[in-house]
Amino acid sequence: AEIDSSTKIDPLIPLSDGSSLSLLANIGLLGDLRVARGYGLRGIGLYRSEFPFLIRNDFPSEEEQYRIYRRIFEAFEGGPVYMRVLDMGGDKQLGFLAGDSEPNPFLGLRAIRFTLKNPEILSTQLRAMLRAGLEGDLNIIVPFISGIEEIRQMRSIMERASLELSEQGIEHNEKPKLGIMVELPSVGYLLEELSDEVDFMSIGTNDLVQYLLAVDRTNTNVSHYYQPLHPAVLRFIARVAEVCSSKKIPLSVCGDSAADRNMARFLMGLGIRIFSIAPGSVSGIHEWIKNNNNVEDHKEFSRNLLRLGSTREIREYIDSQNHEAD
Ligand code: PEP
Ligand code: MG
Repeated sequence: AEIDSSTKIDPLIPLSDGSSLSLLANIGLLGDLRVARGYGLRGIGLYRSEFPFLIRNDFPSEEEQYRIYRRIFEAFEGGPVYMRVLDMGGDKQLGFLAGDSEPNPFLGLRAIRFTLKNPEILSTQLRAMLRAGLEGDLNIIVPFISGIEEIRQMRSIMERASLELSEQGIEHNEKPKLGIMVELPSVGYLLEELSDEVDFMSIGTNDLVQYLLAVDRTNTNVSHYYQPLHPAVLRFIARVAEVCSSKKIPLSVCGDSAADRNMARFLMGLGIRIFSIAPGSVSGIHEWIKNNNNVEDHKEFSRNLLRLGSTREIREYIDSQNHEAD
């Protein structure tokens, strides 16, 4: 559906402490670009680059990828674009690699594990991203990081790709920012070391909840165990926010739960100021934050949630708060 100008939002929502909350979009297919732009969003907080791969029978060439990525930068001139390198595996299986089926795909050759095993696929993708982001605010996100080695290998492959482009005289972005998805539990114990290796971090709550609580996010038999407001999830996120703030690492949240007003409130209370969410959820959460922009309230809300040790108590507390607000 077309979005008229009356649905435009303010992508930098002013908060009571003088800071502002930046809303960016999560997109996969280029069709979402129009929606994100229609709302007046400034940029893309998560481009799920696997989508063009999923709908075909082979790997797109560097040139084909370049043309797709270019359109994203053209749509958001000057705005930040966070491009995630391939996150294959798990729930996103490539049809043409079906022979490689695994008993536990969510614990298998997913994302960075797949691309480090197939470095030429990664290099090709990085070349296309570096070229497309020539004059843009290019941020490259690496999914499924479990430790320090993966991000170091990733950086060296990226630097090599850049060097090769230079040697070939091909114009590209020589200073992209490189960051990680915070979505595996091990990262919670390596935050200090990882902060020395990255330019930013982005919390992916979809997988974080799945892996922290050992709940397959696609399995309806266990969906009641899939609890973004579980105390372990909240405490994990609080720790990430604390370390990123002390290490001055920009932090965003790009999991779907950032669009939930209770989670949004909690995240704002922790000082997180960049949310990337599905374009369809933008207007609802924008409206809510605009009308609830008191940072002191959110801080108190977060502090109180962090004291509670069960999802049930957390829910009860939230209900009592929302009741008060009605
Ligand atoms: C996430 O895991 O929260 C995320 C944003 O990435 P995806 O849903 O693509 O795994
Ligand atoms: Mg993920």
